[in-house]
Amino acid sequence: MRFAARTATSLPCPCGGILVPTTLREFDASPLLGIPVLLKGHLPGLRCPNCGSVIVAGGALELASHEAVLVLLNLPRRLAGSEARFLRKAALELGQKQLASRLGLSRPTVARWETATSLAADQDFALRGLAIGELLRRARLDDSPWRREHARLLSIAETVLREARNTKAPQRIRPLRIAA
Ligand SMILES: [Zn+2]
Repeated sequence: MRFAARTATSLPCPCGGILVPTTLREFDASPLLGIPVLLKGHLPGLRCPNCGSVIVAGGALELASHEAVLVLLNLPRRLAGSEARFLRKAALELGQKQLASRLGLSRPTVARWETATSLAADQDFALRGLAIGELLRRARLDDSPWRREHARLLSIAETVLREARNTKAPQRIRPLRIAA
């Protein structure tokens, strides 16, 4: 029975080993999310005893992505370029060209800020404002995963729309630590 249960959820690993179910205490989601994010907690996942590779269950990643969006929207400093790119994809679900047209900018302008160490204050404000507006719109839809975040989004919106961020993003951004 134990063997059967394992083969049902185990996966082949690229190294030739087998990934088996495990509980992860920490998972580095940075390569998957494109910004430094450490997930902490008791996460269902798979581990390869042969090479040590780990993968985490998809639901945890989606939660981590949502949580990262909320944390970034509420950061007291300006966004780094990589964080802006993450927000564009995870919160707005827009391509660079679509985002540029929503903000009345050119695509190269958006591409340039996404590789910058820090956004300029007006870029940061425009992007956060657009993202929070979009998420609040989605939070009113019955089937949206953002629905349960409505109250939190409203409180973040108040800060986002009131205060421009004066502090630039640092050269090296610290990983977001997210409890899963
Ligand atoms: Zn392996």
